[in-house]
Amino acid sequence: MNPSQAVFTISSAAKLLGISIQTLRLYEREGLILPHRKNSNHRLYSKNDLDRIKCIRTSINDDKISIEGMKRILSLIPCWSLINCSEADRKNCEAFQKHTKPCWAFNHKKNICSNLDCRGCIVYNSIADCDKVKDVIRITSTKEENT
Ligand code: SF4
Repeated sequence: MNPSQAVFTISSAAKLLGISIQTLRLYEREGLILPHRKNSNHRLYSKNDLDRIKCIRTSINDDKISIEGMKRILSLIPCWSLINCSEADRKNCEAFQKHTKPCWAFNHKKNICSNLDCRGCIVYNSIADCDKVKDVIRITSTKEENT
């Protein structure tokens, strides 16, 4: 099975994860996850989404990081380096200026990310395993140092 293919309904995802549908909706509302939306507006989740949610659950339940804390940590992923956006894009970008939520949770206008599908974006996908966030930051900062 392709791990990025969205095949699980919200009730199947909740059952597989052992959590409530309300919790899944809360994570979506808070911008931690971006389920795929069918034309009918029903949400679908991929295996990568389930892994991401497991990681979020571990951070919240075992590491005692709040949802607000998770959002702030994810806001530190240097999307500007991964996407390599211009100075002008950064100037017009709330995600670059703020550290309250991840870049995919902003409503982008007039920048390189305005027309991107965040589910397919390298930034969102770089944290399919949220234990790897630090690796992503390390790799991008090394890349910046070498340019
Ligand atoms: S969200 Fe997009 S435009 Fe904004 S800093 Fe990140 S890559 Fe650049």
